Amino acid sequence: MYFTYERPEFDRNDPLEIRRVVGEAYANALEAAKGGRCADYIPELAKADEGEFGICFADMNGERIEFGDVEKRFSIQSISKVINLAACLKFLGFRETFSHVGTEPTGDAFNSILKLDTVSDLPFNPMINAGAIQVASMLSNIMDFDELLGFAREFCMDGDIVLNEKVYASESETGDRNRAIVYLLKSKGVLQGDPDKTLDLYFRMCSLNVNARTLSNMGLMIANNGQNVKTGKHLLHPGYVRTIKSLMFTCGMYDESGEYGVTVGIPSKSGVGGGIVGAVPGRYGIGTYGPSLNKKGNSAGGIAALTHISHLLKLNVFE
Ligand code: GLN
Repeated sequence: MYFTYERPEFDRNDPLEIRRVVGEAYANALEAAKGGRCADYIPELAKADEGEFGICFADMNGERIEFGDVEKRFSIQSISKVINLAACLKFLGFRETFSHVGTEPTGDAFNSILKLDTVSDLPFNPMINAGAIQVASMLSNIMDFDELLGFAREFCMDGDIVLNEKVYASESETGDRNRAIVYLLKSKGVLQGDPDKTLDLYFRMCSLNVNARTLSNMGLMIANNGQNVKTGKHLLHPGYVRTIKSLMFTCGMYDESGEYGVTVGIPSKSGVGGGIVGAVPGRYGIGTYGPSLNKKGNSAGGIAALTHISHLLKLNVFE
């Protein structure tokens, strides 16, 4: 648990001060990363360099402050759950989407099967594996991977996103827990698509290669209520984006979401590839990359950096 600390007052809108704060956050992150470990349950992820860290902090004009490994590509993993939910809302609507997946946090690990088997037939929310697999089952009926990839590129304002074939192969080979989830959903009669097609789409989306800059763009898209800050194009209805932000806030950081909500207070989503996306409504998009994870599976450096930035720039949404 991090605690608020006092600093002499400074102008929080001064670009130089913001740069100083983001630089401090980067230094804190490098230190914090030493206490974590990269994911190894997907063998390909175990090859990451735990010492790497990158942060990209973007404002609504698209101006960026960057430190460290911001161009390094890594797999998006669970952050793809946000893209899948966005696509589901856009193409199937609110009512249909939430007829098949809930909106409650679980307090359990992201890949837990416990409550799905014992408490509820529908997955609790779209930010855990069970819920994201359910969302993928809906999407698998209306679009193929290439179409969803096209949407992901637009949503993240990054035309260079491609599939990381090695991570995809590694996930498919070792994803037995996700297979258990898809068949549990099928056995309950709630799965919306074919299990194999569903899982393939889910694994592929987890294996998209992004970097910290991509994630900051995604944060900007969400912070700007679904409107591209550069072209002005509306990609998503603001009401859908409000729903996405709410679910990121309550469920986006696995079973650390509550503590993160108190200490950081920024709608965010993490992935076991080491990424975190943060969306400060109306103000900033933040992307971090640090594959050294804490015990909950969140990037140790990313949490340290976002905590520092949120406290110093007063970015908690309830500030
Ligand atoms: N592909 C990973 C899985 O399904 C994603 C998990 C994550 O990033 N938390 O297990």
